Amino acid sequence: MSDVNTAMVQKYRNDFLKEVEENVEEGHWVKMCMQCGVCSGSCPFGPDWDHPPQEIFMMIRAGKRDEVLTTESMWMCTSCYNCIVRCPRELPITHIMHGLANYAHRLGIAPKMNPTRRFSKIFWNNIAKTGRVNELALSLKLYFMDGFMSGIKNALAMAGVGIGMLKTKRLNPFALINHKGVKNPKELHVLLKKAREIEDRRKGIAR
Ligand code: SF4
Ligand code: SF4
Repeated sequence: MSDVNTAMVQKYRNDFLKEVEENVEEGHWVKMCMQCGVCSGSCPFGPDWDHPPQEIFMMIRAGKRDEVLTTESMWMCTSCYNCIVRCPRELPITHIMHGLANYAHRLGIAPKMNPTRRFSKIFWNNIAKTGRVNELALSLKLYFMDGFMSGIKNALAMAGVGIGMLKTKRLNPFALINHKGVKNPKELHVLLKKAREIEDRRKGIAR
């Protein structure tokens, strides 16, 4: 066999499908996809995806590790579940998409500026701190995530909504100082740390 053919065979016999099966939530379903395209046709994002679910599954089987794990596509899934209810093979597509995004994030190779990823991080840090979301802190963090000036612009653009929420008591202006979390956040932190350690051990990811 020529060197070129050997390289091609090696590229084809990849371990990426196995890696996905072992590390990604519901990843063991990927091999069941029969490439019918129903999921991609049902997805409200339609042609806006770089890679719709059907294509992502094909790319995994083709060993395109970097292309899959660095794409923005998985981060666009809105969990509408259209694909799941229509897939003739009953693949849990939504969960696989989120699982892939989470895996890419944990490997540190997910697209850094993707807005969904940034929101997820801000939301997680917010809720993990006290066990309850501090909505005011969350909103401020989101508004100002691209810097002071852009934060002011965002706040002005949403001023009407904010005032409406204040009037109807849907927003507590003192939430930054008197936010009440769960009774014992330290216990929550220990629990989260333990859960992460168990998950990492199971998936063989060193932190
Ligand atoms: S609908 Fe199901 S079987 Fe068809 S391409 Fe999508 S995941 Fe694969
Ligand atoms: S759950 Fe996600 S991938 Fe499935 S149809 Fe909805 S947006 Fe598309």
